[in-house]
Amino acid sequence: MDTKELDQKYILNTYARADVEFVRGENATLYDKNGKKYIDLTSGIGVVSVGHSNKRLSDALCKQAKDILHISNLYYITPQAQAAKAVVETSGYDMKCFFANSGAEANEGAIKIARKYGTDKDGNIKRYKIITLDHSFHGRTITTVKATGQVDMHNYFGPFPDGFVYAKDLDHIKNLVDDHTVAVMIELVQGEGGVEPLDRQKVKELERFLKEKDILLIVDEVQTGVYRTGEFLASNLYEIEPDIITLAKGVGGGVPVGIVMTRLKEIFSPGDHGSTFGGNYLSSTAVVEVVDILNDYKKSGKLDEIKEYFNEKLEDFFSNNQDKFIKKVGIGFMAGLRCKDGDTLTNVINKARENGVMVLKAGRNTLRFLPPLTITKKEIDEAFDSLSNTVGSF
Ligand SMILES: *Cc1c(COP(=O)(O)O)cnc(C)c1O
Repeated sequence: MDTKELDQKYILNTYARADVEFVRGENATLYDKNGKKYIDLTSGIGVVSVGHSNKRLSDALCKQAKDILHISNLYYITPQAQAAKAVVETSGYDMKCFFANSGAEANEGAIKIARKYGTDKDGNIKRYKIITLDHSFHGRTITTVKATGQVDMHNYFGPFPDGFVYAKDLDHIKNLVDDHTVAVMIELVQGEGGVEPLDRQKVKELERFLKEKDILLIVDEVQTGVYRTGEFLASNLYEIEPDIITLAKGVGGGVPVGIVMTRLKEIFSPGDHGSTFGGNYLSSTAVVEVVDILNDYKKSGKLDEIKEYFNEKLEDFFSNNQDKFIKKVGIGFMAGLRCKDGDTLTNVINKARENGVMVLKAGRNTLRFLPPLTITKKEIDEAFDSLSNTVGSF
């Protein structure tokens, strides 16, 4: 049986897969089993931050795999400690980390921190409610899907944990706060919801309001983190100091990692939380190397140069195709074009792939771009040449 047949026979039907099998990648370029070349403007949905088969990353992983992959969190793990130092120091915040394996799991950790923060000395939960935004996305576990403010994802899976309420927008959050509210969880640029950046001034006002009320601010940076917006964290760009930040996707460069970091350094005691795999030698080696590669890249000025180049090209593409697109949205390497309608969007994505460019959908009508941060000008040029031909053809 070929891969497609095996998949259809043995894999549960949760993904609408495109009929392509990739076999090899190099930075933002991918090759399928027939040798056809693609420019990847998706990074495996925001994951492959340092490009496919990055040499520094793969060398570090191979070297680590030869020494030791996994022990358990009952022992000290050198790369985990180094990864936490790298992430905390680069963030500029005074925080500590917990290592998990995915974005949803990092958010579960954030929710547990908030719930514990809402507990009194006798162990009674006094405050437990967490406010999230409409169109948000926080994960697929029973708790994080309930935290997700897209009710069509809540079909079939209840009953859910209590205590999640959805605000229509930032202004609406204040109206929902009551004596039981312990935290507000937001994405600064909603990824799955449509690449919509929140208003900076309003976020700062919210931060001030929450501090006064002793309500925690959780920023889900699973998609926006690790230089996706051009700064290490979107929180850095917004110049706020969240109480809790979650990372995943790009932080491992393709190795599964989730991190929750918090300024509440003493919140947990042994037994409160844990993970078998979280922060093992393999995944935390990836974090150390990815953060190091991207810090070097940022310091050299290249990251900002490419960020601007990509956005100029996207702007050109947008202004040349105003019959199909309404608005350019997003920040840095997390960009989108609001499309006239859903059918046009589906058409663009499928035809672009046929013509060798991979792009994503977000929300109902947004064409989403999440290129590797290390994409070259040549790859960007090739991608937009092909996209222009694609979109010009219908
Ligand atoms: C992808 C994503 C998640 C979920 O991450 P998984 O690793 O798929 O569990 C959570 N929050 C945001 C903002 C995301 O983009």
